[in-house]
Amino acid sequence: GAADTPAYLASLNPEQCTAALHAAADGPLLVIAGAGSGKTNTLAHRVAHLVFSGADPQRILLLTFSRRAAAEMERRVGQIINRVLGAPAGQRPPVFPWAGTFHGVGARLLREVAEQIGLSPDFTIHDRADAEDMLALVRHDLGLDATRDRFPTKATCLAIYSRAVNSEADLSAVLRTAFPWCAQWEAELAELFESYVAAKQAQHVLDYDDLLLYWAHLMQEPALAAQLRARFDHILVDEYQDTNRLQASILLALRPDGRGLTVVGDDAQSIYSFRAATVRNILDFPRHFDPPARIVTLSRNYRSTPPILAASNAIIGLAPERYAKDLWSTRDGGQKPRLVSVADEAEQARCVAASVLAHREQGMALKAQAALFRTASHSAQLEIELVRRNIPFVKFGGLKFLEATHVKDVLSVLRWAQNPRNRIAGFRVVRLLPGIGPVSATRLLDAMDASADPLAALLAFRMPGAAAEAWAAFAPLFAMLHRERSAWPAEVGAVARWYAPHLERLHDDAAVRSGDIDQLERIAATYASRERFLTELTLDPPEASSGESGVPLRDDDYMVLSTIHSAKGQEWRAVSILNVVDGCMPSDLATGSQDEIEEERRLLYVGMTRARDHLQLIVPQRFYVPQQKYGDRHVLAGRSRFISNAVARTFETCSWPPPPPLEPLPPSRRPPPAAIDMLARMRGQWKVR
Ligand code: ATP
Ligand code: MG
Repeated sequence: GAADTPAYLASLNPEQCTAALHAAADGPLLVIAGAGSGKTNTLAHRVAHLVFSGADPQRILLLTFSRRAAAEMERRVGQIINRVLGAPAGQRPPVFPWAGTFHGVGARLLREVAEQIGLSPDFTIHDRADAEDMLALVRHDLGLDATRDRFPTKATCLAIYSRAVNSEADLSAVLRTAFPWCAQWEAELAELFESYVAAKQAQHVLDYDDLLLYWAHLMQEPALAAQLRARFDHILVDEYQDTNRLQASILLALRPDGRGLTVVGDDAQSIYSFRAATVRNILDFPRHFDPPARIVTLSRNYRSTPPILAASNAIIGLAPERYAKDLWSTRDGGQKPRLVSVADEAEQARCVAASVLAHREQGMALKAQAALFRTASHSAQLEIELVRRNIPFVKFGGLKFLEATHVKDVLSVLRWAQNPRNRIAGFRVVRLLPGIGPVSATRLLDAMDASADPLAALLAFRMPGAAAEAWAAFAPLFAMLHRERSAWPAEVGAVARWYAPHLERLHDDAAVRSGDIDQLERIAATYASRERFLTELTLDPPEASSGESGVPLRDDDYMVLSTIHSAKGQEWRAVSILNVVDGCMPSDLATGSQDEIEEERRLLYVGMTRARDHLQLIVPQRFYVPQQKYGDRHVLAGRSRFISNAVARTFETCSWPPPPPLEPLPPSRRPPPAAIDMLARMRGQWKVR
């Protein structure tokens, strides 16, 4: 009853409270509910409640979709705990649950048990670009190059491999269902993947998929599985609708009877099936257990105004299959969302910038505002407009800071020193040195491979004369990095100093790029060790921004540009959604099957439900389609098929710029000319820098 409810749960509604208080001994718990109903908030309260009820925080595992979401969750849990303890709000509580993504937690657990499974604890994690490069090398060694007979590209090869791993399906099934045009290459692809796996093992390299795959394999070894099972009392997962089969099987292996397992999600927001996520995980969850999981649904929306919620419900209401039900808003008032027609993408950019500035003038911080879009490239025009108007922004889901060559160069030195068997990093570093060609580089790496002591092999290696000087400067640095791990983070400075002349030599814009290297040093200083730095940076890299240095401007006010996929779980006071036209939403690439179109509908729903107070959907009348089908040109666009006439009535439809008024204002209401000047000047003062 309410009398037993602890004070720190007082802000929760009764259903949220039920979920927060659910006893682990009573079996697994599923919270399934629509956007903004407080699922994440409830999860944070549940974790705090577990801690206050005596659970060991170190034995609570909190799995989130991104590291940003994990950080946000830590912040929310910390806030609740601190409030109860009377500690300062921002302070990190002394003991804290494990929070992270499946991949991040997998990496940590694998390092701990590495030696028990014959894996080097210094293994390197390859990001997608590195994984593609490695696949390309293996493909080359096998003589299967893409130039010959149109063998699939390295990106396609990796996508096929990844799909097979994550959906736990065999190669021929994946080819048949998702990559039919590659089916003729099944035998070659099987050979390629076998060699790729062997190369990864020889070089102590794991790619993203391996973090889950190895973890799943661990769970099949009885002794290790028991060890890992005994390690956590409570496992809580947010955004469960976007997990894949491998993740679900890991979870079920960790908690076979479901005790202490809580999953939270919204089937109407499942948007990652292209990465093998399956909404069946959440729909089938209750039935996995005997007795079945307890299901809690939440029906009040705390985020959006009623008109925004009505429009969102109208869109998702047309979806054929859905578990979570419509929501009602706990708020009142608010304006209808706007459906804004503009001439083209340039006008769209001006329209968004103008509304951002208008909100800003009314006192809404830039941070409370976001522009969302289907694909990272769709924000190009807007980015130009924002730079032109000096409106700072960060972009999520776009090109990453770490993808810049110079940043990768520096990281490769650290990666190689950490794991001298990592050929991709080694090759990259050695080829930076003037006078060393691919032949010498390969000979060096082969010599290191063949030796039980790769460092000794490196120091003994004789470089050709032209490279002698550069080599003499590098080899001692490598030895220092490989041996002395205690020098963190100062060693990043040492690498940067070694790299500076190469940067000058290799890049015309060395000055700007060296700013990035400085920034990397500063980021490094926030991590406890080299290993943590390399792991976490690879798994969840910082995003690009309008700042010169390429990483988010930390304290300044900036608006957010994000793909809808990366905006999951977040909220802003004002949201603009770009390019709400057919061909874009749904994407032309996705109009193949009904399932794909339904996923696009959910994507629009996810985007719209990020808005708290203001929402506008922008519909350019002309839209650039960079696709062969249309021959790379502007096409006349139509409003997205998801906005039927009935749905459109939940919006205020308008066009931008607004048409000039038909009648001039009566003279009496027109302000005198002097006042107009003064108003303009006052507005000028508020121009955002
Ligand atoms: P999404 O599906 O988008 O991830 P969600 O269901 O996880 O949404 P939250 O992000 O937890 O929803 O909450 C949405 C907003 O509602 C947040 O601003 C949160 O602080 C607020 N909120 C949640 N529960 C309550 C409550 N009981 N009282 C007041 N505000 C609440
Ligand atoms: Mg959430």
